[in-house]
Amino acid sequence: MFTDSHCHLSFPELREQLPAILDAMAQSRVERALCICTTLEEFDTVHALATAHPQLWATVGVHPDNEDVREPTLEDLLAGAARPRVVGIGETGLDYYRLNGRSVAEMAWQRDRFRVHIRAARQTDLPLVIHTRSASDDTLAILREEGGFSGEGNAARGVFHCFTETSAVARAALDLGFYISFSGILTFRNAVDLRDTARLVPLDRLLIETDSPYLAPVPHRGKVNTPAWVPHVAQQVADIHGVSLEAVAEASSANFLRLFNRVAPAQAVH
Ligand SMILES: [Zn+2]
Ligand SMILES: [Zn+2]
Repeated sequence: MFTDSHCHLSFPELREQLPAILDAMAQSRVERALCICTTLEEFDTVHALATAHPQLWATVGVHPDNEDVREPTLEDLLAGAARPRVVGIGETGLDYYRLNGRSVAEMAWQRDRFRVHIRAARQTDLPLVIHTRSASDDTLAILREEGGFSGEGNAARGVFHCFTETSAVARAALDLGFYISFSGILTFRNAVDLRDTARLVPLDRLLIETDSPYLAPVPHRGKVNTPAWVPHVAQQVADIHGVSLEAVAEASSANFLRLFNRVAPAQAVH
């Protein structure tokens, strides 16, 4: 049985075909999927998916790329996290890929937003779902500052999702106790370096995801992605690590349940 640790079923192109997607998940033995929140405006929709369907779970957070949306306060995130079936904080992090002419210094609002998410995660002891793109140095620096790794209270924990950074960044994330999640990008022909990085990530620290509707894995590249295709990512991980598909399915699902420990496995089986 497989787990899709990151998808966006609340997005219209997927929400409109939800019954077919849930059927396809069952056919592909994908027993659960985590529906990721990207704005507070969207949260009720994400949350409703998780309360209506036993195989779906939810997070609360505001994506670093989203501007002109409600800025989340600590209280907003804590209130969302208190709702049933909310099992993580995010997605959050830093994205300097589209600066649109701005300097990194002008992106302080992203860094402030990330800090608020880390504080919410520590207060609730929920895992962070971290998005980082062209910003890994700052992402790691802020995590080290805010994460409470040597201080009092809960230390931050979580996953670096849709990982596309270098092996050095993967090692740094692993050293902080974080998990690494790979998407369909791992199956792309030109992702040679990323496959080398995936080889370095121990099987007990690795998650798989679709990030659907984006990033459909080979052989479906370019189509609208759904959680039913996460086994293609698992197969790629199995090939890289030289283990069976079943071993990757088991390990990545067990890792997911260990990290997102508010997910009740018995409830999640459809
Ligand atoms: Zn992301
Ligand atoms: Zn996402």
